[in-house]
Amino acid sequence: MDLNHVFGPVPSRRLGVSLGIDLLSNKICTFDCVYCECGVTTELTSERKEYISTKEVIKELDHFLQTEPELDYITFSGSGEPTLHNKIGKIVSFLKNNYPDYKLALLTNGSFFAEQGLLDEISEIDLIVPSLDAVSEDTFEEINRPCTALSIDDIINGLINLSKNYEGEIWLEIFILSGVNDTKKEIEAFKEVIERVNPQRVQLNTLDRPGAEDWIESVVEERLKQIAADLGDKVEIIASFKPRKEIKSFNQELKNEIIDLLKKRPCTNQDLAEILSIHANEVSKYIQTLLDDEIIEKQDGKRGIFYIVKEK
Ligand code: SF4
Repeated sequence: MDLNHVFGPVPSRRLGVSLGIDLLSNKICTFDCVYCECGVTTELTSERKEYISTKEVIKELDHFLQTEPELDYITFSGSGEPTLHNKIGKIVSFLKNNYPDYKLALLTNGSFFAEQGLLDEISEIDLIVPSLDAVSEDTFEEINRPCTALSIDDIINGLINLSKNYEGEIWLEIFILSGVNDTKKEIEAFKEVIERVNPQRVQLNTLDRPGAEDWIESVVEERLKQIAADLGDKVEIIASFKPRKEIKSFNQELKNEIIDLLKKRPCTNQDLAEILSIHANEVSKYIQTLLDDEIIEKQDGKRGIFYIVKEK
């Protein structure tokens, strides 16, 4: 059976071995984040609807899970904001009723947590990992470039609402970009918001792979450590400062396959994901290594950033 909406399992730094569920096609989101590893948002929307067939997702999950794979989590993630799919609750219920031994996680930008209806739909999820990259409207606009329906106050109030009404774990992820949300003033404001949201963990991340825009810069390890210390004791750094190729899950054959494809023609991250039948998140890990090693380079094109093999 071809799996179009279920991907992996992929090794994840935070979640161990994780089976991904992608409830959207590339790339539908309420945000258009400058660091997004799936590229630019092609449909910027806050309309919740059944973007892909719920029946098909359930069929794929059922098919895959019948083999009883060893997983740490089944994770709603992928190429956009998963809670835009208005039948996410049906999929959660299917998994909890039929495969209760698996833990569920949701990676989200937290756009809809002010809505009680959504909180009911996701109440059985074991772990929610919301991102929060800004606490002021200006920084929110600069980093997350949201659809007009959303303000930073909506996001923060939604997170507080989630924290009060949800019984699972919340790990708040903050993506730090150099010169944008790492100033003293921003970090102090983050600290206040973290106290109000009161998550179990706060995880700091920075860029370690290509984002949607070229101008963004990661923060150095020392600065991230300083920010972690300023934000308090729940904070951990999840950014990896290790080269990807030193990480255990790095697959040399896949790396060579990507080089061969890029020798034939320039491809975007999404083109490679489709050709190789792996998720765009996985592709971007290899792309970053190949850029670091100066084996490939970027080229702007009509459909976004293309990658080509560098001439020697
Ligand atoms: S990083 Fe997440 S929230 Fe931001 S544009 Fe990409 S999918 Fe949407």
